[in-house]
Amino acid sequence: MPLFRRAVSPPQTAAPAVATDPSLQVILEAFPQPAGVLEMGCRFVASNAMLDDLLHGRTVGRSVLQATRSDELNDAAARALGGWAERRELTLPAEGKTVQAVASPLPHGRALLVLRDLTASKRAETVRRDFIANASHELRTPVAAIAGAAETLLGMQASEEAKPFLEMIARQVARLGRLTSDLLDLSRLESGQWPIELGTYEIAPTCAGALELVRERAKVKNIVLGMDVAPDLCVRADLRAVEQILVNLLDNAIKYTPEGGRVTLLTDGAGTHVIVSVLDTGPGIEPRHQQRIFERFYRADGGRARADGGSGLGLAIVKHLAQAQGAEVGVESGRGGSRFWVRLPAT
Ligand code: ADP
Repeated sequence: MPLFRRAVSPPQTAAPAVATDPSLQVILEAFPQPAGVLEMGCRFVASNAMLDDLLHGRTVGRSVLQATRSDELNDAAARALGGWAERRELTLPAEGKTVQAVASPLPHGRALLVLRDLTASKRAETVRRDFIANASHELRTPVAAIAGAAETLLGMQASEEAKPFLEMIARQVARLGRLTSDLLDLSRLESGQWPIELGTYEIAPTCAGALELVRERAKVKNIVLGMDVAPDLCVRADLRAVEQILVNLLDNAIKYTPEGGRVTLLTDGAGTHVIVSVLDTGPGIEPRHQQRIFERFYRADGGRARADGGSGLGLAIVKHLAQAQGAEVGVESGRGGSRFWVRLPAT
């Protein structure tokens, strides 16, 4: 593509000293993204060929509103011309494209507008999400059938030779079941199909309920469960989601804490927020892993975690559930154990 695909014509309003400057055009054409320079009235005084291609027409001399019909982009441009840098993700109504717009103030009352076309990556993301949701949905029926058959065979006094194999099938199919159901939950969360219903609730009964759900698992490993929860702390949250978060965190705490250890659930009123923490006396997590364990399938200790039968999705689900209701999650961990926390808005 030639560097100067077209000459910069003067805008129809105020005389643009910079617009006729060829170096401005050279700079814009060198941009790897669609970009333009705006002046008062959100009018383009210069733009590169990629911007014209994206907006299907010549942009110089036209306003942002004329070129894009997007009130939101016009608003971002106006704010940048007023001296405020803006970064927004929005849809261009005429083109039906999703773009990330970055509008930055320039000297002499001008602004630089750079767009990044996100349409293809959004579409690919939707295809990926739909595929995972469909595949995990389809897998549920055969997985349930195999689990049922393995249970039945185990109950039929199988031969000593067959028993270990049947037990292995039952164990692995249970793991596959957890994986498919976690994948389904995660894709529902990512696509906004997990309806979040916010309300004002006392947190204590939910904490007690979550502890009850994991009590049996703790008992098997001889782990002492403790709870220090203030009775009157209220949060604005989706209780079903909070319970799921706490069960996932408690499950992990029990899974990674050696026999005879201790797992404790604590609450802390912190002004505008309530912090619920799950403490364990497990092996802790090295600092280099702590930021990444909330990613899908990331395991701090791959071998052991896989052997323990986890799906590798528990903390990714925790993070999504927290974000969906305006909460935050995090971890602090050292040699003596870990503290996973969730910070919920208080009421
Ligand atoms: P998994 O199914 O593997 O447990 P998660 O997403 O729940 O998947 O956790 C991700 C990783 O974080 C785990 O594989 C493990 O390495 C680490 N982890 C999570 N909770 C703890 C904990 N309480 N103590 C030590 N490591 C933990």
